[in-house]
Amino acid sequence: TRMAETVMDHLPALSVPVVLAGGGYQVIIGSSLITRAGGLLGAVLPQRRAVIVTDKTVAGLHLQTLLTGLETAGFTTETIVVEPGELSKSIETWASVIDQLLDLAVERRTAVIALGGGVVGDLAGFAAAATMRGLPFVQVPTTLLSQVDSSVGGKTGINTRQGKNLIGAFYQPHMVLADTDTLGTLPPRELRAGYAEIVKTGLIGDAAFYDWCEENGSGVVSGNRALQAQAIQVACAFKARVVGDDEREEKPNDGRALLNLGHTFGHALEAEVGYGAGLLHGEAVAIGLGLAFGLSAKLGHCAPDLAPRIRRHLDSVGLPSEIAMLNRRFSVEKLVGHMRKDKKMRDGALHFVLARGIGQAFTSRDVPPEAVVELLREAGC
Ligand code: NAD
Ligand code: MG
Repeated sequence: TRMAETVMDHLPALSVPVVLAGGGYQVIIGSSLITRAGGLLGAVLPQRRAVIVTDKTVAGLHLQTLLTGLETAGFTTETIVVEPGELSKSIETWASVIDQLLDLAVERRTAVIALGGGVVGDLAGFAAAATMRGLPFVQVPTTLLSQVDSSVGGKTGINTRQGKNLIGAFYQPHMVLADTDTLGTLPPRELRAGYAEIVKTGLIGDAAFYDWCEENGSGVVSGNRALQAQAIQVACAFKARVVGDDEREEKPNDGRALLNLGHTFGHALEAEVGYGAGLLHGEAVAIGLGLAFGLSAKLGHCAPDLAPRIRRHLDSVGLPSEIAMLNRRFSVEKLVGHMRKDKKMRDGALHFVLARGIGQAFTSRDVPPEAVVELLREAGC
């Protein structure tokens, strides 16, 4: 058949099952998936009608390919376009997306397809979750970060003036299509930022994969599609396993919380620099990964040579690896203040993901503040 020939033309797609209590779904990873979206989604969606939510930048690059891919398989399509950037994760934009969905007279079986990075995925997912109490949802992530992180796990949501992701829902997609072709148009800096979350995966729970990263990371960030697909598959499989064990982040210690390795430091740096003011989330996490291993060594949990080894790898792929590389002064008190307010912290104590070695992360709820202060001073704050 024509479909089979189309599939044969390309590298075989990889797929990762996400297994959850209420059912599950597949994350498909590979080339030309957007072109083949109609065939792939036709099998899992209840109706051949879809509303695509995307941002202006991604619309200019990949929307037509997706529309054609859907329409050739008999889908009726409509499109909602939002402004690119974190500011679109607002109540106003969310309300406007829902308003447009209702104006289009969507039915309960009409699918919402998020085409874009984590911003579009979080926004469209939360709009899908709320509209008519839940429309079928599909993620087509187009940034490396969204392919390895935000599109898997079902967290959707928006920001308020009080903070990031404070309103939202757990809402699982019917399918995730991570098309590596879309990475070809992604700015290299965004690609590297997404790579930091991939390295994080190895550091949390897979030492062999971290070794793989040291060997192949430069290929991933320089655009080798096969290596990218492999890295995405491993990172998604890892996240899927963690999420499958702790769908709603209810385990205090070894569930989804582990995914925050490097993030307590990272969020504090992002908060100090100001969101959208030049430090990408993945860059902040990269610096946070070195600091988390530095703190682990300081507390006697791991060998002292791991943090420098990790920093060397991050440097080698062009990620910032140290606070000093950000060329600005940070106040230790302000950074620690942000850490105490981290949303994931229940009681104002300093809660970190630490490690006993590469691939051996664990959570610690009571890190002595003096150790954190000393580490930040040594880092030049
Ligand atoms: P993003 O969605 O803002 O995308 C980054 C930029 O790249 C945007 O300007 C976008 O227009 C552009 N872009 C996207 N795809 C492109 C492509 N293929 N070619 C060229 N340009 C492209 O940012 P992101 O890093 O993908 O996601 C960040 C968001 O994800 C944050 O809001 C964060 O809170 C959220 N997030 C959510 C989860 C979750 O579990 N839901 C996890 C991690 C992060
Ligand atoms: Mg992150």
